[in-house]
Amino acid sequence: MMPEFQRPRGTRDFGPEEMAKRQFVESEMRETARLFGFGEVMTPTFESTDLFIAKSGEDIVGELYAFEDKGNRNIALRPELTASVMRFYVNEMQSLPKPVKVFYYGNMFRYERPQAGRYREFFQFGAELIGAPSIEADAEVIALALATLKNIGLEDVVVRIGHLSILQSILDRTTISESEKRECRRIIDKGEIDKLKSILPDDAINELNMLFSNPDKVSSVLNTYPGVDYLRQLLNRLKAYGFTNCTVDFSVARGLDYYTGMVFEIDAPSLGAEKQICGGGAYKLADLFGGQEVNSTGFAFGFDRIILALENSEVEVPKQMLNAYILPIGDSARLPATEILMKLRNAGISTDMDLMGRNMSKAMKYANNIGAQKVIIIGEKELTEESVTVRDMKSGEQELVSISKIVQFITGCLN
Ligand code: ATP
Ligand code: MG
Repeated sequence: MMPEFQRPRGTRDFGPEEMAKRQFVESEMRETARLFGFGEVMTPTFESTDLFIAKSGEDIVGELYAFEDKGNRNIALRPELTASVMRFYVNEMQSLPKPVKVFYYGNMFRYERPQAGRYREFFQFGAELIGAPSIEADAEVIALALATLKNIGLEDVVVRIGHLSILQSILDRTTISESEKRECRRIIDKGEIDKLKSILPDDAINELNMLFSNPDKVSSVLNTYPGVDYLRQLLNRLKAYGFTNCTVDFSVARGLDYYTGMVFEIDAPSLGAEKQICGGGAYKLADLFGGQEVNSTGFAFGFDRIILALENSEVEVPKQMLNAYILPIGDSARLPATEILMKLRNAGISTDMDLMGRNMSKAMKYANNIGAQKVIIIGEKELTEESVTVRDMKSGEQELVSISKIVQFITGCLN
């Protein structure tokens, strides 16, 4: 039978096991961001559509979940968070001491063609560093992204760093219009270099091809480009942070977005087509939103793709365990069992109790199924002795433990 209601296309449900994994990764990410001195922010799930148009141009509307609300306002579900964070910064954070270092985690919405690793509702974890000199900010932000991936155990990644000034200076030497330049960036971002032929003259395309295929030679051939020396210094700083796995790639163009200088992307090769797990770079948005011009650098992780990449790798994400499962035998055991249940929970020991009146063997099977470490059996015989039987689910060993010592006993076993 077909269920009556289906999830909207491109959305997902997450069960407890999936959520435990996601929450583990999420908390490692938060922890790393805090280690780096970033603080968490949260902004609304929807914004004025104009905000996203101001940042990314009219073309963005095709990708948005946008609608008119009952007060005739043009509203869009957020497709990303940099625009919201910078709006927040301009409205309320400009007078804070610099730099402002913030991070976020949340769901984003894009009207895309769903496929593996590409959804209409997906999650991003990202950070923005606002108001520091650009090379310092760029290094710190890339280092945060790399340290985060390291801490969650995803080490098989490719980091590609580019600089838009180089691409820009090649485009500026042609006579094409600003909108054609944007189109070129979009095409290069998608890796469809062949399509440039209809827009760019041959010599510009040749220059780009050389640039994209031979980044290591760039220093000798193209030293005149201002971004080259900058990237060299940036790589040096990243080395001091302990990250030596960054490569230079001038084909990183970041599509529609409002980037100005350094841009970077991180891929997880195991993911195939949708392998990009992070995009970021330096941008200037504050002035566009009515504030003072300020250097900013940020990145966004595709959280869902990182989860997929972790599933492809050997990384063990700790399974959520239940510390104890209580089995009251007979009705008279229920109330004392409830008291023990709450004593354990109040002591921070995750504990569940049989609610189904299962017998011993079925209860053991169930406890095994939910991953309980200990089963606490409370029967009439035990109660007359002010005790319970504690069974270790791994070894099968059983022990009689006095009720007055039960919290201490279980705590001791868990350490
Ligand atoms: P793509 O080129 O894959 O569409 P993008 O350049 O649009 O990516 P960004 O806007 O930079 O992506 O977002 C940062 C990250 O968010 C991406 O690297 C990707 O991992 C993830 N991401 C983007 N769109 C989706 C989506 N529809 N579903 C899942 N993850 C996504
Ligand atoms: Mg996209």
